[in-house]
Amino acid sequence: MIILTFEILYAPIPEPLIMSDIIHLLPDSVASQIAAGEVIQRPASVVKELVENSIDAGSTAIRVIARDGGKTLIQIVDNGCGMSETDARMSFERHATSKIREAVDLFAIRTLGFRGEALASVASVAQVILRTRKPENDLGTEIIIAGSKVESQNPVSCASGTSFAVRNLFFNVPARRKFLKTNNAELKHIIYEFQRIALANPEVEFILEHNDSEIYSLPRTNLKQRIIHIFGKGINQNLTNIDTVTSIVRISGFVGKPELARRTPGEQFFFVNNRFMKHPYFHKAVLSAYEKILPPETIPSYFIYLEADPDTIDINIHPTKTEIKFENELAIFQILLAATREALGKFNLMPSIDFNRESSVEFPVYRRDDPVPVPQISYNRNYNPFDEEHRIPEKSGHDGGQNLKHWEKLYSPEGIPLEGSGESAKLTGHSSMPNGNGKPTDSFIQLKTRYILTPVKSGLMMIDQRRAHERILYEKYIRSFAMNYPVAQRSLFPETIELDQADYLILREIMEDLHTIGFDIRDFGGNTLVIAGYPAEISKETPRDLLEAFLDHYKSTGGDIKTGVRERIARSLAVAGAVNYGETLSQEVMQEMVDHLFACESPAYSPSGKPVVVIMGIEEIEKKFK
Ligand code: ADP
Ligand code: MG
Repeated sequence: MIILTFEILYAPIPEPLIMSDIIHLLPDSVASQIAAGEVIQRPASVVKELVENSIDAGSTAIRVIARDGGKTLIQIVDNGCGMSETDARMSFERHATSKIREAVDLFAIRTLGFRGEALASVASVAQVILRTRKPENDLGTEIIIAGSKVESQNPVSCASGTSFAVRNLFFNVPARRKFLKTNNAELKHIIYEFQRIALANPEVEFILEHNDSEIYSLPRTNLKQRIIHIFGKGINQNLTNIDTVTSIVRISGFVGKPELARRTPGEQFFFVNNRFMKHPYFHKAVLSAYEKILPPETIPSYFIYLEADPDTIDINIHPTKTEIKFENELAIFQILLAATREALGKFNLMPSIDFNRESSVEFPVYRRDDPVPVPQISYNRNYNPFDEEHRIPEKSGHDGGQNLKHWEKLYSPEGIPLEGSGESAKLTGHSSMPNGNGKPTDSFIQLKTRYILTPVKSGLMMIDQRRAHERILYEKYIRSFAMNYPVAQRSLFPETIELDQADYLILREIMEDLHTIGFDIRDFGGNTLVIAGYPAEISKETPRDLLEAFLDHYKSTGGDIKTGVRERIARSLAVAGAVNYGETLSQEVMQEMVDHLFACESPAYSPSGKPVVVIMGIEEIEKKFK
């Protein structure tokens, strides 16, 4: 039975107005629409609310059907307890819930929803058809409701359990509808929400369908299998379980090997009492456990489940917030850190890391049995960047032209601009850099396998090797797109790569552009791609690493419509393919890198706008010796 909870009005009574009365109450339907904005932000929020209701209703199988990123249809079908005729009608009332009766219940809540707001909100901004039947009844109930208005209510014969079909979300709030992203982007949100719920409930069978194709079909299973079903078999050997019981919290789940770590978030999941949560502070605890064993700027995967007495946590009173406060955050931080360390210890990672290296702080992951990677940088020596037709048609960032003039000065004797200055072309004629005497220099020093140092006229030039390579690759890909000719390709023995659904969809979308810049990838369907070639001059050893790094970066730059897709691809591939820190570069490679860098339109900045080159002026150096 559903009961209405009391609404408490905190708002102070307004002072009487001097002018004629202008305050009036909003019609209910408008008030509901406003409130809906809090709970329902996009199709994915509908999925979250309805699937959580299905779980609360004791369902063991839940099917999610979406069309057009959920904009046209979201349907949730469950085999839970169903609703009586009265409850079915009541469930759409605001503050109608079967889950709390009194405020005290709030503190002991273990169900997912309890504010009795979701259905009222959904019904106020969409066209909803509810069909529901309790197992013990012969007939069920159908309610059709749109924009908070009940259009019909009839007995129907239907399966036991509940089905909500939500059509045309925000049909009556055009401003919000317009605000929705592309179908693909909305689908991705649905997938993320679906993953979170599926990971919290492995004992429930889930199906996700989009535009008639099945994205996930997840049988009832245990947690580990659930993770594998969602993220692909590849994750299997890369997980270790974490398990700790203390009086204030129980921690279980899995953490990933450092190899699994990616550059952008995506596989970090905390759950508390089976509810997904974000917890930046606990996230730090996990990160600290990985300290020094992660590749630079990557985030480890984890699936961590906390169980705590509901009395000691402040669950989200706000429906869309995923942050949760704990009474014992400090203690839990320590427990989490220790538990994660212990779990990582099982990989035998700790002892094999050479912490005594002088450069250990900046050192990337390094395991003894790993072969030392040979940097693979080769350039097309016949490429002449001064050749007009190879010039990049557009400036690709930070006042490239300005910088170039500056650079020319740097290299010319006495700071006098090179002959014909203003033409970046002049710089490129040299196979190596003039060092002020007009002679080529071979005096490159690699510092901490990170920086390239070389003397220049005005002092000491320091180049960030990774960023420099990013800049070089980026401009190369932009050029390749502009000219529509492929960059050199490295062929591979064809490798099959299984991706998670979200990644697969992204790659499929941009497949053609990837071909243009040297990828040989074929779509095999079922989240599987076969890769038989990729652009040369990329430092990643395996296509899988490259694709993952590429996707991570690509995803992180999403949403910005102004940046063209190709520009995004160029940038992400440059970041993914650039030589990393920790790679030793020969004199020759450094020379080439510097040459190519200064043949770039904007050598001073990486594609993401970070400085590539720093010069310590002679004066500054002299000052240090005073
Ligand atoms: P809340 O979940 O906060 O109680 P909702 O608006 O989401 O509020 O749902 C209102 C009520 O409708 C729930 O308390 C529950 O009793 C009923 N209900 C919603 N969905 C289902 C479902 N799939 N199966 C059975 N009952 C449901
Ligand atoms: Mg609910």
